[in-house]
Amino acid sequence: MLIVMKNTTTKHQIGNVVAKKYKLVSREYHPENTLVEINKNVVFGGKKPVIIAGPCAIESEKQLLEIAKKVKAIGADMLRGGAYKPRTSPYSFRGIGKEGLSIITTISKEVGIPIISEITSVLDLDLFKNVDMIQIGSRNMSNFDLLERVADIGKPILLKRGMSSTMEEFLLAAEYILKRGNPNVVLCERGIRTFETSSRNILDLNTLALIQKESHLPIIADPSHSAGRFDLVIPLAKAALSAGSHGLIIEVHNNPKEALCDGNQSLNFNTFESLMKQL
Ligand code: PEP
Ligand code: MN
Repeated sequence: MLIVMKNTTTKHQIGNVVAKKYKLVSREYHPENTLVEINKNVVFGGKKPVIIAGPCAIESEKQLLEIAKKVKAIGADMLRGGAYKPRTSPYSFRGIGKEGLSIITTISKEVGIPIISEITSVLDLDLFKNVDMIQIGSRNMSNFDLLERVADIGKPILLKRGMSSTMEEFLLAAEYILKRGNPNVVLCERGIRTFETSSRNILDLNTLALIQKESHLPIIADPSHSAGRFDLVIPLAKAALSAGSHGLIIEVHNNPKEALCDGNQSLNFNTFESLMKQL
């Protein structure tokens, strides 16, 4: 086991000193906020919230280029876009795969914006070499083999909370990555399942606030997947930032009505601009 943290505590001592089940991710173990740096201007965990924007899925080069230029001009710090989409139904659009990753990495250089994309299988690890940050989605939060193998690449990871996971399970999933020697983890509260069915998920601001006490890792919010509808994204985004969120990941599409994935919850350029002005 590799522990590369700024601390001299040994594996044995961690077990004794930190009473919680999660150790390396806890504030007890590491009292200062961890900063996860993508580049000099994009740092999670500091005073300035990091805004990630882009489509749920990469559909074509033309689509992504238009979105990348626009969200950057409006003020996004990073571009999102899924090449591999984990879908609840096998009949839904599951992404354009390898070609999507090649499109997003080319556009990143052309437009000058760092990128994040979701990995769904250890078989694809080599394809993610040119991505600045790797997303592990809600459906894979408990895929411990994937967590360890992605951790080993050493790149920053956005770890989304499982839709039915407790805070402890969420932090233990992050613990898998830190225990592997990769401290560059940003947590993401993306809404949980409750008895309430009137919106897609419930943005759990309690946990968003509590995690900042329990852990030194940065945490951001995903109001798009929490809400499941575009008209709730702005109020949820503002609420999350008020609760101390270190950033936001927002789905933005050039033509939400025609989007191949998550169009209902995607903001168009005007609404995204309005959100950024309000922040
Ligand atoms: C996504 O970011 O498009 C996604 C699939 O999110 P989640 O894993 O939170 O459902
Ligand atoms: Mn989505």
